[in-house]
Amino acid sequence: MKTEVLGVFFDNVTMQEALQIGEGLICGEKTAYCVTPNAEMAYEALHDKDFCDLLNQADLVLPDGAGVVLGAKIVKKPLKQKVAGIEFAQNLLEIIERNTKRLYLLGSKPGIAELAAKKMLEKYPKLNICGMADGYFKDETEVVRKVNEAQTDVLYVCLGAPKQEKFMRAHQKDLNVKFMIGLGGTLDGIAGTVKRAPRWMIRLQLEWLYRLIKEPKRFGRMLRLPKYIFAAWKRRMKG
Ligand code: UDP
Repeated sequence: MKTEVLGVFFDNVTMQEALQIGEGLICGEKTAYCVTPNAEMAYEALHDKDFCDLLNQADLVLPDGAGVVLGAKIVKKPLKQKVAGIEFAQNLLEIIERNTKRLYLLGSKPGIAELAAKKMLEKYPKLNICGMADGYFKDETEVVRKVNEAQTDVLYVCLGAPKQEKFMRAHQKDLNVKFMIGLGGTLDGIAGTVKRAPRWMIRLQLEWLYRLIKEPKRFGRMLRLPKYIFAAWKRRMKG
């Protein structure tokens, strides 16, 4: 079931439910795509109709981050839980392995996908990683060709927003994959080159603070989080 929060239609699902939908799409017939908007992206969508449409046209829209869940609560359209893209992508590996599907890793700086693949294979030795490419390419057609050539079933698209959403939507028709997901910095996270916050900070919904301390240059971007919460309050006041 979709829940509209400030213009973005989120799938109101638990992690378990999201994984079940993901499995259905992986084993389905069409080429589906999934987006994982956090508060920064959702705030962007408030001001950019095209980006908002890219999010809403996705087959699966997962609330990545405490900010979105809080915004939903403020506008009195509570979401069941945060479904972080990186956790969804990690949990999905078991499903990809069990269904003997082929996974392609696209994005991040050169060498990162290889490191992430190594970490994935340590945990899921039978996982079929059919190809990898960094995210700093010029010719998108060439990327699409390579992904298709590798007979990819599942594509992790880690190019940052909005590049990854634009890529997925633009090539949905040309890509012979079953399921692709826009996952931002997930490969960096899995590779371990960008550390996730300690568990206690994640539990206290302070992952954003950890990222800010580690990458102060994100400050401007991260201001969108309080702005998003403010927009939610404004919407609530207007009724
Ligand atoms: N990236 C890329 N190609 C580009 C721009 C960015 O592959 O042209 C990668 C970048 O290396 C990083 C990810 O996209 O791995 C974006 O990470 P960011 O932290 O901005 O995304 P978030 O996790 O916040 O969504």
